[in-house]
Amino acid sequence: MRALRRFTVRASLPEPLSALGTLATNLRWTWHQPTQDLFASIDPDRWSDSGDPLRLLSTVDPERLVSLARDEQFLAHTRALADDLTRYTTGARWFQRRQDEVQQRREHGNYELSPLPTAIAYFSMEFGVTEALPNYSGGLGVLAGDHLKAASDLGVPLIAVGLLYRSGYFRQALSLDGWQIEHYPVLDPRGLPLELLTEPSGAPILVHVAMPGDRVLRAKIWKAQVGRIPLLLLDSDVEENDEDLRGVTDRLYGGDQDHRIRQEILAGVGGVRAVRTYCELTGHPAPEVFHTNEGHAGFLGLERIRELVTGEGLDFDQALAAVRAGTVFTTHTPVPAGIDRFPVDLVQHYFGSEALLPGVSTQRVLALGAEENPGLFNMAHMGLRLAQRANGVSKLHGEVSRGMFSGMWPGFDVTEVPIGSVTNGVHGPTWAATEMSRLLGESDDAGVGLRGFEPVTDQRLWELRTDLRGKLVHEVRRRTRQSWLQRGASALELGWTDTVFDPDVLTVGFARRVPTYKRLTLMLRDPERLRALLLHPERPVQLVVAGKSHPADDGGKALIQQIVRFADDAGVRHRIVFLPDYDMSMARYLYWGCDVWLNNPMRPLEACGTSGMKSALNGGLNLSIRDGWWDELYDGSNGWAIPTADGVTDPTRRDDLEAAALYDLLGNQVAPLFYDRADTGVPTRWLAMVRHTLASLGPAVQASRMVREYVENLYAPAASSAGSVVGEGYRGAKELAAYRQRLRASWTRVRVLESEMTLSGSAVPLLGTPVGVRARIELAGLEASEVDVQVVLGKVGDSDELYDVVTHTMRYAGNGNYDIEVPLPHAGAVGYTVRVLPRHDLLASPAELGRVVLAG
Ligand SMILES: *Cc1c(COP(=O)(O)O)cnc(C)c1O
Repeated sequence: MRALRRFTVRASLPEPLSALGTLATNLRWTWHQPTQDLFASIDPDRWSDSGDPLRLLSTVDPERLVSLARDEQFLAHTRALADDLTRYTTGARWFQRRQDEVQQRREHGNYELSPLPTAIAYFSMEFGVTEALPNYSGGLGVLAGDHLKAASDLGVPLIAVGLLYRSGYFRQALSLDGWQIEHYPVLDPRGLPLELLTEPSGAPILVHVAMPGDRVLRAKIWKAQVGRIPLLLLDSDVEENDEDLRGVTDRLYGGDQDHRIRQEILAGVGGVRAVRTYCELTGHPAPEVFHTNEGHAGFLGLERIRELVTGEGLDFDQALAAVRAGTVFTTHTPVPAGIDRFPVDLVQHYFGSEALLPGVSTQRVLALGAEENPGLFNMAHMGLRLAQRANGVSKLHGEVSRGMFSGMWPGFDVTEVPIGSVTNGVHGPTWAATEMSRLLGESDDAGVGLRGFEPVTDQRLWELRTDLRGKLVHEVRRRTRQSWLQRGASALELGWTDTVFDPDVLTVGFARRVPTYKRLTLMLRDPERLRALLLHPERPVQLVVAGKSHPADDGGKALIQQIVRFADDAGVRHRIVFLPDYDMSMARYLYWGCDVWLNNPMRPLEACGTSGMKSALNGGLNLSIRDGWWDELYDGSNGWAIPTADGVTDPTRRDDLEAAALYDLLGNQVAPLFYDRADTGVPTRWLAMVRHTLASLGPAVQASRMVREYVENLYAPAASSAGSVVGEGYRGAKELAAYRQRLRASWTRVRVLESEMTLSGSAVPLLGTPVGVRARIELAGLEASEVDVQVVLGKVGDSDELYDVVTHTMRYAGNGNYDIEVPLPHAGAVGYTVRVLPRHDLLASPAELGRVVLAG
């Protein structure tokens, strides 16, 4: 019989055990080993089956709970952990100490540091906090989860917002012939670590969003508590909704464009409304800063404009100035096809009637998402236009993004495009094996530190690595068997799965989503060479592979099938496996146990990549193309860089070259080093690299480092900008809007009328020689104080393009005349030009408005 409907009943805990409920629902347990140990002690078998305290509590024998309720030692231990959680969630941490420090400095007249924001709202379409709340598809979601956990550890007052998907992302299985099969198990929110926001009557509080045709999309608000951070998740499965609208939050990244834009409208517009509701309900301070994590959530800026237009009487431009000041936008992909675009007609359909956002004109909305193709609305372009501050997620990705979006800042040098970078990080306490963090010593706020690291002997470190590899091998065997049973094999023919993998063989991991640029099958380029590496008589390699392909991507599924077919061969299946259903619960074993983490994307298409960071935290060595984070953190001896054939345009040839380099490295460097043993059996030189990896990457790859950078370089300046535009009845916003209006009226007439450079003396000028530059500018009615006139000096190439430029602001000498004396910055062929830029105190960068007038 199949159940008509399934639902979850929560256990009612005996009163003395009530603190267990709190410990189970605050997701801090996901990175707090002592709390996990407490739950494990209740029922070790159930715990190892589910790893989920709520499920454990609802399935454990009630007798056991009754006896625990009388167990003084257990009760005392529970109380101690509950007290620890209270201290953790209420005490002062890094952010509060930093607030005090900034405050004190300002009292002493030092205004260098901006005051920190009272609250930040963080919007993302997916959050991967724990497998017990499967609301993510891959890297973006796990990164968002790590951001919340690190913010919690640091005491950063974040409110996070997203959607709750009824089926999360799909679960992956394999057919007998290796084709990906997708399942969408339905989740019951009442069985998840969530709390419904309700009216005093107990009725759910609903967020309303207008849909075309006088319809309304309603959503409930669930709250997950991630340490100190509330995570609000909107759920459209509300009875009063029309049937199609009930399904808006059915699946993550499923459905067509129409489905997707509805999800993004709910996340952005509904998300802001949910934040307002939450703050009203709890007295939480209103966010000063809004962080748009990837373009999907960008509609949040439009709703905030709507609030200011209808609530504060601002016009669109004034509201835009106010909203931009407090918005941070993070872009996550350098793959143009990865950018979210909607047909303009579709956007028109939803925003056209103004029912959705009263007072916000459709034309203005459409202009914010305009791109090269007039038929498309570009969510990344809107994200950039709605945010005064923007960043990519590694240094290289910042650079690539400046190039990719440079069309929005015509006339500027690519280096001036106002997109910076904050390199991603990973949450140490979540991803480092407990044994490893114990060995390394834990530090207070920042996760894994290196205290107590040096005295660890090679012997001890090797035992630990071997132990972690052994756990992975056990997991590989379990999952391989499970997968074959699911593919239709009978238990009788699966004896061989008990001996796949060897706990002493060099173990290489490759696990990630399967878009083309990540090149899942590069390792299969020359199957015979791979086979020889796997089966080497003295120095074998074993390879564990995992990853999901987007359900609509048959190309990706075909790549998975190639790997699976290769791994099915009885001659190699003990040395290579493809494990279906890559998720956080599997990922953990891979990061713990792999000796080498392989990554071979097509450079520079990996924005950052974070799985290699998680491996590094456990002493895994990275073997990777120099892309994303590895481009900046590889130092020549903390792993290996696979040489890239950048510039080889034929992709087949490029794959051949890079695959050959990969085989060479694995066979000639990696494996020999791993198998080079001292008399004690310990690979001394290998462990030196492990130590160097832990020391050089340990602190750099932490999410706490990332979140501190967001706070110091983006959130605090954004809060300060927001403060400057909001005060005195939005005076700053009004001034800035009026200024932009004046620029619009005059800018096309601003011109560099003449300019000249005078070299003193007649000989060839020397580096550093001062030269005079003079210019006369048509200001077209603008005040001299409203523009910056700059001389730009740089090297010149054959086409007279300036590069490696330095700029100096010129001195105003009255009547449109400007002059300056500057030292020559370069030897060789040097050129200069003069340019005019907008100037206003409330701009964050001179390129911000995308306006520049160049001489000539
Ligand atoms: C870290 C992580 C990712 C992201 O890995 P990349 O290296 O960025 O591809 C994806 N899925 C899971 C489950 C992860 O833990």
